[in-house]
Amino acid sequence: MENQLVTCPMCEEGQLLVQVGLEQVNYQGKRITVTYDFAICSLCGSEIVTPSQAAANQARSLDEYRKRNGLLTSQEIQ
Ligand SMILES: [Zn+2]
Repeated sequence: MENQLVTCPMCEEGQLLVQVGLEQVNYQGKRITVTYDFAICSLCGSEIVTPSQAAANQARSLDEYRKRNGLLTSQEIQ
């Protein structure tokens, strides 16, 4: 949803282009795939994760973990 152009902190000339990547993580012995946001500089190619992207990525991973956890433990909770 972030559409503002951000200047690259590495070269201070390029503009960061928001990308979405897929990351596989292990959770309780299962491999799950989560999406994560990052940005690539149009000029120097640096891959950057801004603080707001990092926070969004973490929230998304936690959501995914909770979903898995709920599926695995819902019978125990009741
Ligand atoms: Zn750059």
